[in-house]
Amino acid sequence: MARVGADSFAVARSGLISVADAAEFAEQVLADCAKPLEIAGRELSVAARIGIADSNSSLPSGQRLLSQADFALERARSSGGANYQFFAASMEETAKARQELIDDLQAGLRNGDLFIVCQPKVSIHPASDGQLSGAEVLLRWRHAVRGWVRPDEFIPVAESAGLITQLGDFVLYSACWQIRAWLNTYGWSPRLAVNLSARQFSAPGLKERIEQVLRETEVSPSQLEVEVTETAAMHDVEKTAATLQALRALGVKVSIDDFGTGYSSLNYLRLFQVDAIKIDKSFVDDIETDANAKALCSAMLRIGQALGFRVVAEGVETTAQLEFLRRGKCDEVQGYLIAKPMPCAEFEKEWVAGRRGVSGSALDDTLASRALRGDAATTGQV
Ligand code: C2E
Ligand code: CA
Ligand code: CA
Repeated sequence: MARVGADSFAVARSGLISVADAAEFAEQVLADCAKPLEIAGRELSVAARIGIADSNSSLPSGQRLLSQADFALERARSSGGANYQFFAASMEETAKARQELIDDLQAGLRNGDLFIVCQPKVSIHPASDGQLSGAEVLLRWRHAVRGWVRPDEFIPVAESAGLITQLGDFVLYSACWQIRAWLNTYGWSPRLAVNLSARQFSAPGLKERIEQVLRETEVSPSQLEVEVTETAAMHDVEKTAATLQALRALGVKVSIDDFGTGYSSLNYLRLFQVDAIKIDKSFVDDIETDANAKALCSAMLRIGQALGFRVVAEGVETTAQLEFLRRGKCDEVQGYLIAKPMPCAEFEKEWVAGRRGVSGSALDDTLASRALRGDAATTGQV
């Protein structure tokens, strides 16, 4: 037995050992570690994780054997709790593929393969129907060989690889420089909303970082909104409440994203200071077909209204959904029915340059004219 790291140990066993033997041995080690120990008057026990590799079939070098055990250990670590895992070739492949994605992502950040797109949010208030109320900023990555990589694919990897701050800063700067550019050219800019991942949200210094970006780009805090998912917000309720308060004190708008899908607790709505909630697309999707989804949308609208939050519905794709949301006095909608996410230059032409949709008369006109011009939101997406 050897100590190979701060809190890791390697056990080498020689001779012919069956898989069942190895498993039994690992279970014994776990059980021994779990036995309470008294140290300096305190009782402690260890939830060990074990990775197992064998040289029976392939005769790898000692170094390789250790690295295979490490891959198995990695898996055991991510399974949580005391457990053991056997090495499998697929683990090495998964880890290799993941590392390649991380390398590519870092290169992408350097060479401009990543960029932001904008998706408009429009008001459906009778008084300002169809008026642009802001836009959500979404990250895009086009890799020379991989093609388009979806954010739901690379953002979790960036989070676990510690790249999310870099990526998050990139999005914040891109959004704020864009606002600055529109202010310079048109004298106004729509408010842009950026998504904050869970890690980003809980990392220390978020407020200071945002403050710095705003200062450098000379953008007023009220021009910026952050979207935080319910799941990220619920991680550490007290800390979240403090962070939200600090951001709002700065003047940045805050919305709760994917509302209704996380560990929803009505209590947090009392504790958290937010400006808006975004009803998750999954509820909006089923408005026409599922009475429960419809009832839940109504309930979320009423909760938001009762607490004085703006309510935004995301993923609106049909006029029937739009009508239902209008009747429920939803404040804003976002979705393919209005427009798909588009490059900033296109968004600028369509929505910023002419201050599109400002006059009262209805989203329907906007939609009708788009349809007539043949650029209905159903065409290509970025
Ligand atoms: P999200 O924040 O819920 O973003 C909304 C997603 O719904 C976007 O997907 C958008 O393209 C899509 N969407 C909007 N309207 C419709 C519609 O009517 N129908 C359908 N089918 N989809 C619609 P996207 O861009 O693929 O982003 C997926 C997720 O990745 C986002 O979910 C967000 O969680 C994350 N993400 C994207 N950009 C960023 C970013 O810059 N930072 C962080 N942390 N996360 C990001
Ligand atoms: Ca969002
Ligand atoms: Ca969402």
